[in-house]
Amino acid sequence: MNEEDLYKKRLEVALEASGLDLWENDLSTGEVVFGLTKVFADLGYASHETAAYVDDIFKLMHPDDVPSINQAIDDHLNGLTERYYSEFRIRAKNGAWVWYANYGKIVENDGSTTRFTGVCFNLNEKKCQEQELQALNEQLTEKNMLLERMNAELHTLATRDSMTGLYNRRHLLEAGEREMHRAQRFEHPLALMIIDIDFFKRVNDTWGHIAGDQVIRAVADCCLEQTREKVDIVGRIGGEEFAFVLPETTLHNTLALAERLRECIAAKEIPLNDGTTLSVTVSVGVAALKPPLTSLNELMVCADRALYRAKRAGRNQVHWQE
Ligand code: GH3
Ligand code: MG
Ligand code: MG
Repeated sequence: MNEEDLYKKRLEVALEASGLDLWENDLSTGEVVFGLTKVFADLGYASHETAAYVDDIFKLMHPDDVPSINQAIDDHLNGLTERYYSEFRIRAKNGAWVWYANYGKIVENDGSTTRFTGVCFNLNEKKCQEQELQALNEQLTEKNMLLERMNAELHTLATRDSMTGLYNRRHLLEAGEREMHRAQRFEHPLALMIIDIDFFKRVNDTWGHIAGDQVIRAVADCCLEQTREKVDIVGRIGGEEFAFVLPETTLHNTLALAERLRECIAAKEIPLNDGTTLSVTVSVGVAALKPPLTSLNELMVCADRALYRAKRAGRNQVHWQE
């Protein structure tokens, strides 16, 4: 056996062992010089159906993959890439699409001949795994988003009052306690305000419970309108009772806020379902942080006492206790 035959034999063994199929095209004529016999056989084609021209191969390729193949060939022909590589689907005899990859190089380009040679190998398993993985990842992302939404909903349920959207009593006390510690540690002002709707029982007795709920919601809206979002902690702590933890707020400023809020609520004409409107007033109790107070609870007791005095003094007014 001469050196050339020996070389051919070695190449055959290497190709067979690696599952690679050798091809060679002449790009100047568009002819398939040789190759893809294994690929065509694997795809179920008879030997006489093996493509004779590059264009015949393109006809069997998935139309979505053709532009990227052409681009890869052009890039290599124009010297932009050292080698040509592309991934594509070929239609099998039975109509199924099978993934393959091409790896090649221009080995001769002398003006009359453009010899383009390379190997082709089956990529189907890898592509199927990739697609499965991608589908799994998409499922996982979707599940994570659902979980995040559920967590957010759970957090809302745990911290908010469902009727008004304000914080619930428990969250107000927890968050208020934290603000209290911060204020004491840095010697910053903090105030607490409690409001209670006047003669609310009469609202329920006269207009019914549903109208009563509408009034509670309207008062809650006023509370939000008059306070600072993400700074003040506003909560519904009882049936028609609301509390405000007001960080960085002096007694003077809290009294001004309390007065504004009282006026805003008294002036509001609350629409009811039957088309009529209703007005209510509130009484307000204010207490400001002052040593040696140490707990939010003590501040609540002070504000409550002030509220009680506001009620006793005739309602629809603001009282405070240092
Ligand atoms: P005051 O001026 O002294 O505060 O008188 P009031 O009538 O507002 O006080 P009272 O505490 O006697 O009545 C509060 C009423 O609030 C009693 C209760 O039926 C009603 N209430 C509590 N929670 C709700 C609620 O969620 N919706 C409605 N519609 N009413 C509620
Ligand atoms: Mg009341
Ligand atoms: Mg009350």
